[in-house]
Amino acid sequence: MSFLGYKDIIEEGDLILAYLNRDTMKPIVINATETLNTRFGSFSHLSMIGKKYGTQIASDKGYGYIHLLQPTAELWTLSLPHRTQIVYTPDSSYITQRLGITSGSRVIEAGTGSASFSHSLARTVSDKGKLFTFEFHKPRFEEAKREFEEHGILGVPVTINHRDVCNDGFEIEDVELNATAIFLDLPSPWTAIPNLPKVISSDERVGICCFSPCIEQVDLTIKALQEHGWTSIEMVEIQGRRWEAKQVMVREADDAIERLKDVKRRKLEGIEKKRKYYSDNGIKKEDLVPENTDAETEEQKSQRMKLLEDEQEKTKVSKTEFNPFGRGLRIKEGEEGYSWVKVSKNEGEIKSHTSYLTFAYKQPAFVKK
Ligand code: SAM
Repeated sequence: MSFLGYKDIIEEGDLILAYLNRDTMKPIVINATETLNTRFGSFSHLSMIGKKYGTQIASDKGYGYIHLLQPTAELWTLSLPHRTQIVYTPDSSYITQRLGITSGSRVIEAGTGSASFSHSLARTVSDKGKLFTFEFHKPRFEEAKREFEEHGILGVPVTINHRDVCNDGFEIEDVELNATAIFLDLPSPWTAIPNLPKVISSDERVGICCFSPCIEQVDLTIKALQEHGWTSIEMVEIQGRRWEAKQVMVREADDAIERLKDVKRRKLEGIEKKRKYYSDNGIKKEDLVPENTDAETEEQKSQRMKLLEDEQEKTKVSKTEFNPFGRGLRIKEGEEGYSWVKVSKNEGEIKSHTSYLTFAYKQPAFVKK
């Protein structure tokens, strides 16, 4: 099981993300002797082995359902155990493209934290590239290392180092880091910036992104970047919002008139049918009363109920065919034969916790060792 590739079938030892509902996803490692207990029921791991990733399975007692999802960097970000604040996908995807990180890139990251961004970076650089990630907090370093190992990315492409990068720099014995992209998610990135020249590529353009929640940190970071020869400095803030796009049927005034005429026609048709039914069966309205009183005998009551059923059956009016304003024939969004307009709606609330992203670059000619 590796975050670098995909597989079809779930096997013993695989990591799966059990999708319970929109807000809950549980990472589990398949162990044939264990059971996942959820509020939707219990699911034995044995029942998951041999299933295709993406399958929906029923609980052991058959009353609840979950989906068995393949781990991806994006889903891991949503389900990982938090040890720190993390970088979410709207930020990580933007940073990745702005720094030009791709398969084969050599990237430095500090600190590792909960390794949310590390998983995304590892998948992007792939087995052709390198991610050198640094964490100075021992328990976090150990947890992240264990996760990288379990997820099949330790060594290739991830190297994790237990290090205070502000005081001790980024150099690794016997390794030429030659990084072309740097990501710093640290309380004081300006103290780590002076340590970068020794570990960045001197013959390629190098990009840096510093992720800081406060504008005062941005200020100090920009000063340090300028002092150390970084150029094209720009600060960006990502405000992640969901956009909903759909097609809405075009409703003309003629449709409204047609609809009102249809309602009237069906009403008259119903009254007429009912009237005819009473007259064909020689029923006077008074014959149907008294209803549900002591005066009504059991026989009268059952006769009344039967008449009511017959009446409902025979006076049924055909369902309206096309009704753009409400009930009627069900029409699928975008169906041919109707006219549609494309609309989109912007969610008011900002979904991602974000920081200020300060970007800067060094051109090959300016890199000094
Ligand atoms: N980007 C990470 C993620 O997406 O999960 C979260 C990083 S977290 C906000 C910041 C981490 O930097 C913490 O785990 C902290 O221990 C580590 N850190 C702070 N100062 C450091 C330093 N000087 N050297 C190495 N790591 C440091």
